[in-house]
Amino acid sequence: MLTLTKIIQQGQTIGIIGGGQLGQMMALDAKQTGMKVIILDPTPHCPAGQVADDQIVAEYADVKAIEELARRSDVLTYEFENVDLNALRDVADKVYVPQGTHLLYTTKNRIREKTFLRNAGLKTAPFLPVKNRQDLEKAVAEIGYPCVLKTCEGGYDGHGQEILHSDADLAKCAGILSTKDAILEGWVPFKLECSVMVGRNENGAITVFPVSENIHHDEILHISIVPARIAPELQERAKQMAIKIAYAIDLRGILGVEMFVGNDGEIYINELAPRPHNSGHYSIEACNFSQFAIHNRAVCNWPLPKIELLHPVIMVNVLGQHVQGVRKQIPKKPNWHFHDYGKAEIRHNRKMGHVTILTDDFTATLKEIADTHIWDE
Ligand code: AMP
Repeated sequence: MLTLTKIIQQGQTIGIIGGGQLGQMMALDAKQTGMKVIILDPTPHCPAGQVADDQIVAEYADVKAIEELARRSDVLTYEFENVDLNALRDVADKVYVPQGTHLLYTTKNRIREKTFLRNAGLKTAPFLPVKNRQDLEKAVAEIGYPCVLKTCEGGYDGHGQEILHSDADLAKCAGILSTKDAILEGWVPFKLECSVMVGRNENGAITVFPVSENIHHDEILHISIVPARIAPELQERAKQMAIKIAYAIDLRGILGVEMFVGNDGEIYINELAPRPHNSGHYSIEACNFSQFAIHNRAVCNWPLPKIELLHPVIMVNVLGQHVQGVRKQIPKKPNWHFHDYGKAEIRHNRKMGHVTILTDDFTATLKEIADTHIWDE
C-alpha cells in the first residue's frame, strides 16, 4: 500500500468511485479548492459527473475502469460503501488510497461492524448472525420481540429489513433469508436518533461535528436538527464516542456515526458510514467547514480545523414526491437554501435534493415546513 509523506496539492486529482449526490458535493468542494476531480459511475452525466472535470462511465466493479481511475488520480476515495474491495486492494499499490480497505471491510457488513463496535467498548443493539429459518428462530428466542432482521450487506434506507413483532412475522423473512446472510437485532427503544460526523487525516489530526438529531419517515432520513435537542452532557458523550470509534478504526477521511439515545439514557451505536452522510449536509451552510471539505482535507492530508457551528439549522430531504412542491416554494422562501442533485429521473422515495434553513427558532421553522404540506406524504 502506498503511504504518503506529503499533502495532495491544489491542481492534483481526486478520483471518486461513485457519482451520486455525496460525490457531487465532494466534487463541488474539491473544485472550489482547486483540485481536479474524476468520477467513476455507470450513469452518464450522473450528479457528480455534472460538476467534475471528467467521468469514466463504467460499472463500480469494473476492474479495468478502477485501474484507469487510479492511473489518472493522485488520491482515490469513494462516496459509498458498496465498493468492490478486491478491486480497491488491487490498485492500492498504484495510487494513494488513504482510507485503505480495512475501514470499508468492517463497515460493509453489519456483523463485522457491530462486532468491531462491541470490541471497542461501545453499546449496540443485541445482535446475532442468521443464515436460515432455524438460526432465525433460535436468534428470536434469545433476543426476543420486537426485533429487526437486516441483510448483512447492501441494505440502505430500510431496504432489506423486516421488523418482527411476533411469530406471525417470521414468514415475512423468507425473502431476505433466501438471498443473503442476515443479522437479527434487538429493537432499541429510543427517545431520539442522532448522528455525529468525525474526520481524521494521515497525521492523526481529528475533528468532530456537532450532534445532529435525525427524524426518519419510512426509515428514510426526513429532517436533521442541529444541535440535537438533548442535554449538553449527552451531546458531549456522543461526540466522544465518535472520536473513540475514529481512533479504534484508525480512520482516514470522514465517518458518519448513527446513534440511538435509548429510553434508558444510554447511547447505542446503530451504524457507521465511511463517507459523508445525509445527516451532515447541514454543515455546508451552518459550519465553518462542511463535512465534504473535511473529507477532502482529510484524504489530501491537509490540516483539520476545529469545527464550529455558526448557526443552528434544520435540513429537510427532498424525495421524488416532494420535488414539485419544493420548486413552488422557491419564489416564497428567501431564506431557504435549495439543493438539487440534478438526477435525470424523479422517483418516489429517491433522494433528489435537500433544503437547509438556518434558524433561531426550531419550533417555528418546523411549523413553517409542516405548513407547506409538501412532506405530508
Ligand atoms: P438502518 O438501516 O440500520 O440505519 O435502519 C434504518 C432505521 O430503522 C433506523 O434509522 C431506525 O429508525 C430504525 N432501526 C433500525 N434498527 C433498529 C434497532 N435495532 N432498534 C431501533 N430502531 C432501529
